[in-house]
Amino acid sequence: MADRYLRFTHTAPGRFATRRLGLPQPAELRRWSAEHPTLDGPLLHLTAGASPHRDALAAALARTGLDVRDSADRPAAVVLDATGVRDTAGLGAVHAALHPVVRGVRDSGRIVVLGAAPDPADHHQAAAQQALEGFVRSLGKETGRGRTVQLVRIADVPGAESTLRFLLSPKSAYVSGQVITTGTLGEEAAEHAPADGERPLAGRTALVTGAARGIGEAVAATLARDGAHVVVLDVPAAQHDLVAVAERLGGTALPLDMTAEDAGDRIATALPDGLDVLVHNAGITRDRRLQNMPADRWASVLDVNLASVLTTTDALLKAGTLRPGGRVVATASIAGLAGNSGQTNYAASKAGIVGLVRSLGPRALAEHGVTVNAVAPGFIETRMTAAVPLLIREAGRRMNSLAQGGRPVDVAETTAWFAHPGSGAVNGQVVRVCGQSLLGA
Ligand code: NAD
Repeated sequence: MADRYLRFTHTAPGRFATRRLGLPQPAELRRWSAEHPTLDGPLLHLTAGASPHRDALAAALARTGLDVRDSADRPAAVVLDATGVRDTAGLGAVHAALHPVVRGVRDSGRIVVLGAAPDPADHHQAAAQQALEGFVRSLGKETGRGRTVQLVRIADVPGAESTLRFLLSPKSAYVSGQVITTGTLGEEAAEHAPADGERPLAGRTALVTGAARGIGEAVAATLARDGAHVVVLDVPAAQHDLVAVAERLGGTALPLDMTAEDAGDRIATALPDGLDVLVHNAGITRDRRLQNMPADRWASVLDVNLASVLTTTDALLKAGTLRPGGRVVATASIAGLAGNSGQTNYAASKAGIVGLVRSLGPRALAEHGVTVNAVAPGFIETRMTAAVPLLIREAGRRMNSLAQGGRPVDVAETTAWFAHPGSGAVNGQVVRVCGQSLLGA
């Protein structure tokens, strides 16, 4: 799983050779650690045009703990408030604000543009706000040096605060080129506010499926770091590894096949005190072109990756096991967004997750107080991708703006942001963790 190319490019001969040959030069990404939890350097707060959110945003940015300024030569992060941009003249103000500062943004720095929802009743505003999407995606592709660029369409600042904290931290190292929409927090948000900022999930229970290894194990570890009691679930055949993960994290092992007809009931029975965070991570591939794909390969992938997610989520909402303030995080894939040869079954199942999230999110929030979102990983260094043939694996690693694969912890940190008690206004979103892969929307 080691990315030898990345290591090579950080040696003197490697730097020389890659420069001469015009090969990708991936930056060493700065990820979160307990010793080093924040970005290194000031945060530059800029505004394009008039913004209704200026003061609330300044207060929220101050709460990130970063040194917020309105001018800085070498910022670690830039937040450009473009919510007031209503026409092409406003887009000129976006250029004027960022043009002089992008070059100075530090390595592994962050650029976050805040936008507003395109207004269906005002095509000038809608055009200008939609323009920000193309702008951000292009800047993400050209910015380099481990720097990331995102667009967050906000309804108000409180609803966006947990998202800003995530994007303005090392936790979002492998998330770039994303467009995220945040709503407003409900009145009950204060009830669910975490007592402990360091351990926001303290007192909460999280169930992670497919947690005996890979991404699921990392998700469980990250939610446990954030204070959750983790219940780790995997197939009975993986019990040995599963128990080891549970012991390491002070959690509980639940050996269970998610495709079992009574899986939802068995989870509900195992969690009589209820559940706060449900992470559907279990997934399989059975690749083959459609013309060579027998029905069992089709069905097993659809069953594990989609049908079991639908039926168990329904069962746990209906039983009231998922408590108000709860979070469901499902796992899509960039293959589900872009399609992939040999993966009609897998891509169908993962695109199905996108449909599930968008449809169920608003209803689950209104009826149960539960948000439903999805992560869509790109190329993540796991056993699944280690099994991919060398050349395809190399292409997968490099064909993204950060020119490297992600790590399981990158998906885990994104999941932890969705799971955060402050993320009640983040709902129905599909966020790619792919270093802005060239594949996928
Ligand atoms: P992995 O194969 O390493 O782990 C998946 C785990 O799910 C395994 O422990 C497996 O036993 C478990 N599992 C499979 N079927 C199950 C079932 N019926 N019930 C309970 N558990 C079951 O995979 P990974 O790379 O860690 O991927 C995790 C998730 O992320 C999957 O949904 C996968 O599709 C998705 N994903 C991964 C990548 C990547 O690059 N690795 C990219 C996109 C999406």
